[in-house]
Order: sequence, then C-alpha cells, then structure tokens
Amino acid sequence: MTVRVRYAPSPTGLLHVGGARTALFNWAWARRHGGVFVLRIEDTDKERSTEESERSILEAMRWLGMEWDEGPGVEGPYGPYRQSERNARYQELCARLLEEGKAYRCFCDAERLTSLREQQMANKENPRYDGHCRDLSPEEVARRMAAGEPYTVRFRVPEGETRFTDHVRGEVVFQNKEVDDWVMLRSDGSPTYNFVVVCDDADMKITHVLRGEEHLVNTPKQVLLYEALGLEVPEFGHLPLMLGADKKKLSKRTGHTSVQVYRDLGYPRDAVVNFLCLQGWALDGETEVFSVDQLVESFEVRDVSKGGAVFDPEKFLWLAGEYLRQEAPEVCAERCAPYVIEAGQMTAEELEERSGWFQEVVRGMQERVRLYSELPEKIAFLFEGDEEVSYDEKAEKNARKHEHRAEVLAAVRDTLLPTLEAGADAAALSEAGKALLAEREWKFPALGQPLRCALTGAAGGPDLFDVLVWLGPERARVRLERAIERLA
Ligand code: GLU
Repeated sequence: MTVRVRYAPSPTGLLHVGGARTALFNWAWARRHGGVFVLRIEDTDKERSTEESERSILEAMRWLGMEWDEGPGVEGPYGPYRQSERNARYQELCARLLEEGKAYRCFCDAERLTSLREQQMANKENPRYDGHCRDLSPEEVARRMAAGEPYTVRFRVPEGETRFTDHVRGEVVFQNKEVDDWVMLRSDGSPTYNFVVVCDDADMKITHVLRGEEHLVNTPKQVLLYEALGLEVPEFGHLPLMLGADKKKLSKRTGHTSVQVYRDLGYPRDAVVNFLCLQGWALDGETEVFSVDQLVESFEVRDVSKGGAVFDPEKFLWLAGEYLRQEAPEVCAERCAPYVIEAGQMTAEELEERSGWFQEVVRGMQERVRLYSELPEKIAFLFEGDEEVSYDEKAEKNARKHEHRAEVLAAVRDTLLPTLEAGADAAALSEAGKALLAEREWKFPALGQPLRCALTGAAGGPDLFDVLVWLGPERARVRLERAIERLA
C-alpha cells in the first residue's frame, strides 16, 4: 500500500503555524514512507475563501520546503484539487446516498430548528436534531419539493457503535447515537465540510488523515459516512492543539500565528521548520536542533504527543539564533540584505559592489543576532557619519572610567592605524593591540572601553578589531580624533 496523505487548508487567511505543523507532519510522513503528499484547497466556504489567501498559503508552503506531489499547480490523477471545482462529484454522491435511504431531505426551517435548540437547552439536553423529517413518505417529499419548499440533506446516522484507529490516541470507539443526523447539503445546495472531506479523501485515495485535534469531533461523522458509502476508512492521527503561553489555544493575543509573519520578521526558514516540529514531536527527547533529513528519517505519527504543545516564543528565538549562526556568511548576508536595504543603510547596488565587505560584517555579527531583521540596528554605527557617532550614556561612562583614555586612543591611532593601513586583518590588529597593552602595562578594558565608545558609541558589540577593519583607517581615524577631544 502506498501511503497517501494530504494537507487540506481552507484559504481564509495566512498559513497558520498550526496548519503549517499539520502540513509538515503529513509531508514528513509521506517522505518517510516514499508516499504521496497531496495538497487540497478546501474552499467550500465561498464567503471567506479568497484567491489571495490560497496564493499566500501555497507560497508559504514552498518557502517551508514542502513541495506537494499532487495539488494545485502540479495536478495529478485525482484532480481537480480545489473543492470548488468538484461540486458535480459531491452532488452525485449525495444523490446516491438519498437513493439508498442513507440520507434524507429535511424541510425544517431555521425557526423550527432554533426553537428546538432553545427547548433542548432549557431542558439541559444536548442540542441535536430530533429526526422530524427522518421518515417522511416519498410522496410527501415529492409534494413538498414540487411546491418549491427549501430543504437540506441530512445524513441518516445508523444505530450501533463505531471505531477507528487514531495513531496519536489509540483506538477510538463511539456510540452512533452520540452523532446527530448532520447536514450534508445546505438549503442552497452547497455541500458541508464533513461531507466533502470524505468524498475527496476517498476519491484521492488518502490512507492516513493527520490533522489538528479540533477535528476530532468531526471524525465520527466522517467515519460513518465512509461506511455508508461502502468505502475503506482511512487511519487517523489527531495532532495536539498548539497552545499559547496562557495554555489556551494559540491566538494572536499571545504571539504571531502566521508563518509569513515569522518569515518577514527574519526567522531562518530551517529554524521555523525545526520549531514547528517540536510542537508535539521530539527527535529523541534531547536533541532540539535537528535537520529536515533527520525529521524525515525518524518521524512517526505514534510518537506525537497527545497533550497540547505550548508555543514558546523565547525558545523560537533561541532556535532562530542557533540556525542563523550556522549559516555560511555569504548565505546569511544574502538573507540579511533585504532588511539592510529596508533600513536605508545600503542600496541593492551598494550591497552588490561591496559584497565582500558586507559578508565580512555579517560574519562578525552572526554571533550577535538571532533574526536577519536584527542586523540593521546592530550595525547602525557603521552608517553614522564619523563626526556624528552618538555615544550612549553607558558607553561614555565606561570610557571615562579610564584615566588614560585619551592617551590610549592616541596610541591606537598611532600604532594600530598604520598597521591597518598596511593591510592588516583583525587577527593581526588584535596581536598589535596586545603588544601595545603589554608595553604600557594596561589591562584590556583600558583600551577596549574607550575604543568601543569611540568607534561604535555603544557599550557592547562586535569584536573591536573587526570594527576597525570594517571602518577602514580613514573613518577610524576621524572617530578616534573626535573621541580624543570629546572624552578628554
Ligand atoms: N479544511 C480543514 C481546515 O482547514 C481541514 C480539515 C481536515 O484536514 O480534514 O481545518
């Protein structure tokens, strides 16, 4: 049996992190088993579905590296892969169920259903359909249809007990009487989610349905429908909810909920994938940083936890930093570039002309940023006018602690700048700096703090010998002269 799984987003917004995790687990499961990953667009909610949303979901899926084997754009043997294009098939299956008496037409209007619900709630009963139209005679149905009375089509839930396999929760058994005679077709003829999802999963030969736990309430309805249609029931895996820090369902209140926002904030793609996988799954209970290949090698649905997964933004940031640091500087530089452009620090042309320089800066900063978007603020000092470097209070206070500060800065100017002019790199400058300290019997902070204030205006930051190289001798000289005067 070939494993066939699907991700079935409704195009009603951006790709939600919970949806992305569902997609990833399906994708990984397919890859692990040499199976097929299907992408299906569930756009039956005409009012809320938009093409724009579909486009952005597909784009985010591609960004995450989840290419689909069948679905929009690639198509495949069981298309179309958009529910709005499959209506004829739904009507056909509905007609078959009506014919076989496994579904029936219901003429109850909204008024009757509302008062039924109110009555049941007043009696502390679970609101449910009371079967009023379950056994209308064929003549009565024909008469009311001919009279143009609107109707819905309901599924006729049989008696008995039903079970299904859930790879996360184990075997699930439910009593059919707990399931309402649910609506398959609305009075405007449009099919409902529980109906079309079964038609499609069956037609698309889906073997495993892995989806969010919020759909667990729907599964009994769907399993009963498979059986009514005489179709093989797929296996399920209901993935735990993603929770916010408040242990409630993740919402905008406690953090960003869409993948695109994290992308735009400059999270490395692989960190996003890794972090999403950690929401309900672990490689071995210890290793937190793992690759997509490791995921594919080890992913088992039965290892997914039942309990809700708490989405920890701090951990996400930490993971982002872990990935960013591992990147080759030229790769990292390319990913930081849009933020540098956006901040107005360099134009695309300047970045191209000075790509070697920019890569050097990025290399020196990689330890100090977690997101690509954090770079501009941390390197802003490089783009300040050399006569205008603003000293922050702490930097200046640190510099002024050292009695010999002016002398130190003058010594840097007179010994390190010529070295720099002669083409020294940061390592050689560092050696020269050490020699200077030894000669004058100064400790490193006596040199470091005034120099940092002079060159960057901040109390902390990248390696100072790197900074000297990035600025170059002329700019460094201006900054040193100015600090000698101002800090004297
Ligand atoms: N369209 C549904 C959703 O976005 C998918 C349900 C399913 O996977 O069965 O939640």
